[in-house]
Amino acid sequence: MPIRHLSETMINQIAAGEVIERPASVVKELVENALDAGATRLEIVTAGGGLNLIRVGDDGSGIPPSELELAVSRHCTSKLSNDIHDIRSLGFRGEALPSIGSVARLTIRSRTVSGDAGAEIAVEGGQVSAVRPAAANRGTSVEVRDLFFATPARLKFMKGERAESTAISDVVKRIAIAFPAVAFTLSGPDRTRLELPTAGDGEDGRLRRIAQVMGEEFPENALAIDAVRENVRLTGHVSIPSYSRANALQQYAYVNGRPVRDKLIAAAIRGAYADVLARDRNAVTVLFLTIDPAHVDVNVHPAKADVRFRDPGLVRGLIVGAIRETLANAGIRPATSAASAMMNAFRPGAAAYGHPGPANGHRSFNPGLRAAAAGGFDVARSPYRPLEPRFSESSQAAFDTGPGVSADARAGYGEVPEVMLRTELGAARAQVHENYIVAQTADSLIIVDQHAAHERLVYEALKQALDARALPAQMLLLPEIIDLPEDDVTRIVAHADMLRRFGLGVERFGPGAIAVRETPAMLGETDVGQLIRDLADEIADNDTTETLKARLHKIAATMACHGSVRSGRRLLPDEMNALLRQMEATPGSGTCNHGRPTYIELKLADIERLFGRR
Ligand code: ADP
Ligand code: MG
Repeated sequence: MPIRHLSETMINQIAAGEVIERPASVVKELVENALDAGATRLEIVTAGGGLNLIRVGDDGSGIPPSELELAVSRHCTSKLSNDIHDIRSLGFRGEALPSIGSVARLTIRSRTVSGDAGAEIAVEGGQVSAVRPAAANRGTSVEVRDLFFATPARLKFMKGERAESTAISDVVKRIAIAFPAVAFTLSGPDRTRLELPTAGDGEDGRLRRIAQVMGEEFPENALAIDAVRENVRLTGHVSIPSYSRANALQQYAYVNGRPVRDKLIAAAIRGAYADVLARDRNAVTVLFLTIDPAHVDVNVHPAKADVRFRDPGLVRGLIVGAIRETLANAGIRPATSAASAMMNAFRPGAAAYGHPGPANGHRSFNPGLRAAAAGGFDVARSPYRPLEPRFSESSQAAFDTGPGVSADARAGYGEVPEVMLRTELGAARAQVHENYIVAQTADSLIIVDQHAAHERLVYEALKQALDARALPAQMLLLPEIIDLPEDDVTRIVAHADMLRRFGLGVERFGPGAIAVRETPAMLGETDVGQLIRDLADEIADNDTTETLKARLHKIAATMACHGSVRSGRRLLPDEMNALLRQMEATPGSGTCNHGRPTYIELKLADIERLFGRR
């Protein structure tokens, strides 16, 4: 084929492939345009997860009739003068509207302050109409129908109405946090209405908007951040370690007011919390970086959600340092450094001494993992109440030996029967630090993390019971009311039937709240609020693609975490041995549900080597 110039429509469709990934990208571009036009109110309407309809109306500057045609032409923008390094608007590439027009049916209706008459232009699959007069209020209304009708291949990749609709809410919330003075409404037949009235300017306004978007409880469980390093300023709010989530969806970051999704920032947050948060938990954060526009490149990707810092080390250091200092000032400190130093000293040898484990081969000596979770910060001295579930005696069913424990057994560990030494996990000899069972086999020393082990056993039991029948529920005397962001409420309610199979009875309780009437009997007394929040996260993470069975298992895992013996529970020798025997009988019990080992084994030979006896 000879070389030809691509048609304008094809060029735009290629650009659309990058800029317009899904309906939420259209919403993002249109909302950014409205904000760039100085709007104070935005009304966003969607239908069919944005695939049927997206409409964004604003009260901004409007577009003069004479410029409507330019607005939908490629590389036409009113936002960039001559310096690509000095970008102060959200948009600047002049590609959103032509891209959208090339893959959908786009109509723009607008009127400026001075213009006495409004006008309208339409683009359908790249075909631009003539500009027509049209009745309009001051501002602009952009309507996008039948997204991707002109590119059916892209349409096939959409995840379904609910997932797209949720992604749109997420985009709107992300941007809304950066513009607290602007009022947003998001509504349509595919969603529950989101209403964010103006929250005002300044620090107070920002905090009010954060509470509107993330729920009142976030500010109550967060610390304010304000730090400067060289010419970069970091402000915002970060959660205390006890207020954490199972995923990182609730981490919002902004660079000069632009919402970004940045790996460097995410990694810095993780690093800052590493000593006070379990590995599988995520802090909730809203961080704003203010930086000289010349020191950050926002033109990395057409969607403009990625950024590149001129000095990444400076930004990382600022985030890690500021969060750590803020946590420390609030009395939240990591486990003693002496303990972790000892663990580090131990670790290098571990690889050499490692033995493949019977259950899964996961045997690296790395108990430091849990140290942070168990003793992360000094609860007693912290003014904050952790949300750790309360431990309940009734949740012991999975390995209780019942009331028939003999007086001899209570008295001590007694003689160890020879047969027990020949089992895989041996005979329990002691419990230390109220969480670690020390056991002895014929040729090794076993240390079991009782919390992790029990969590795994509860999980396996839940899975098995599920296959057979619905799990028994325990009626609460008073229903517990849990406040949640509306999207989480929707997620939980949509899965109410599935949750009922676990014995968790939930229903909507007005806007932004869930009433819990029954909890799974197997879990005993748990922190219902934290359980519901974790389940909402779990569902958000795995909603669309999973089979019913896989979903049930994930929910079982989340629940098991709440029903397990927390560290800090003293066990009798018989109880410990019962736990060991049950672990041996349960496939997969060598790791907890999060993939951490539930026990480690030190071979006697290796211990002797450590002491120079070999
Ligand atoms: P960019 O935002 O990068 O300039 P777009 O294709 O998104 O490119 O928009 C093209 C131009 O159309 C903008 O530069 C702006 O002048 C105008 N425009 C788009 N949306 C609006 C709006 N809601 N209000 C006023 N002007 C708008
Ligand atoms: Mg734009």
